[in-house]
Amino acid sequence: MSAEKYDIAIIGGGPVGMALAIALQDSNLTTLLLEARGLPEKADDERPLALSYGSYLILQRLGAWRRLPHHTAINTIHISNKGHFGRTILTAQDAGVPALGYVVNYHDLCCALYDVIAENKIEYQIGANVEKISSDLNVGYIRYIHHSVEKNLSAKLLVLADGGRLGSQVEGVTYRTTEYNQWAVVANIKAEAYQSGVAYERFTSDGPVALLPSGDHFSLVWTVSPEMVNEIMALDDQTFLGRLHQHFGNRVGQFVYAGKRSSFPLALKFATPTTAQRIALVGNAAQTLHPVAGQGFNLGLRDAYELAQEIRASTFDNKAIGTASMLSRYRQRRRIDSQGGRVFTDSLIKLFSNDSALLKHFCGMGLTILDNVPLMKRFVARRMIFGARG
Ligand SMILES: Cc1cc2nc3c(=O)[nH]c(=O)nc-3n(C[C@H](O)[C@H](O)[C@H](O)COP(=O)(O)OP(=O)(O)OC[C@H]3O[C@@H](n4cnc5c(N)ncnc54)[C@H](O)[C@@H]3O)c2cc1C
Repeated sequence: MSAEKYDIAIIGGGPVGMALAIALQDSNLTTLLLEARGLPEKADDERPLALSYGSYLILQRLGAWRRLPHHTAINTIHISNKGHFGRTILTAQDAGVPALGYVVNYHDLCCALYDVIAENKIEYQIGANVEKISSDLNVGYIRYIHHSVEKNLSAKLLVLADGGRLGSQVEGVTYRTTEYNQWAVVANIKAEAYQSGVAYERFTSDGPVALLPSGDHFSLVWTVSPEMVNEIMALDDQTFLGRLHQHFGNRVGQFVYAGKRSSFPLALKFATPTTAQRIALVGNAAQTLHPVAGQGFNLGLRDAYELAQEIRASTFDNKAIGTASMLSRYRQRRRIDSQGGRVFTDSLIKLFSNDSALLKHFCGMGLTILDNVPLMKRFVARRMIFGARG
């Protein structure tokens, strides 16, 4: 049986894979998106995503933004270090943008992107579990199971947007992993002194706690140690809210409501290089970051958008798609942004999640200096919003 042939095959229909497929529509290329799970509507993930203003602009261009049922603007971020002096307040005005970003739900974002996929009749197979990938000089090959049937296809370029699951099959690509020994506990929370538009990032020696404004409540991302995660997940709501208040402090008053909780292990994992023969990696498949600074999806979306631009630029000569020189241009284009996002996020965790009094003192000084030097504030805020182009 002859295998089907495509220009581009994208493995993983999460938000980054879907964004790439949408960015390639109208390019006259044959594109296929393969997703192992069911339709995104059935997903059940309370994870909040803080989208930067730059991501908002990309999602608008892709036609997904107006399909999001809920989004809450972040106008101010309050950053502090528990038990130590120093704090910084970043505002949209500091960065010279209408909003620092927007909080959306992962599941809502997937549904919004899926609507664009469906409306534009982009070829998207769900329940398609890719088992094997390989490549030669001219094409990439995929073997996958779709509704219990084994299928094979080839494409000029395979894009791994699978969160990193198949990366170990790619010859020449290695992953480096740093375990943070931290878990994120995620839930919707209501607080007495809720103010829409204000987000809180509070560093503690166990890891950061983020409260992101979302409608009339906060989306909580609470970093806890592996020893504590089961205990925190098992607490009844009242005890959970009491523990959170004890940990976070009284900045937003008492916590009065907690929704369903979920938990995620946290690690830094990144691929070197992010391309191989006829293969490109994007999103979490290229780099999985700690959620502390809300960089992961934002970085992944820029991977997808810039890869699409590189592919489109190659369509004048169809033979150029997926070649070593095209992939090298993609790699170069993403290098500074991706390294910057990774080093920034990792440094925040290493500097702030420790018990050294001296380091805590320096962190406090850093926050105070940042708060008092407008140019530095603008640089940091724009770097977080637009990546390396900030
Ligand atoms: C608690 C938490 C909070 C976060 N907060 C933020 C934030 O505020 N801002 C931010 O920018 N980022 C945040 N992130 C990071 C963000 O969630 C990820 O960066 C983003 O989901 C990556 O998207 P992706 O499409 O690359 O990968 P994924 O979301 O992992 O999607 C991968 C897809 O590939 C599919 N797949 C896997 N294997 C196969 C296979 N073999 N065959 C076919 N399909 C396959 C999966 O089913 C899945 O749908 C957070 C993460 C966590 C854990």
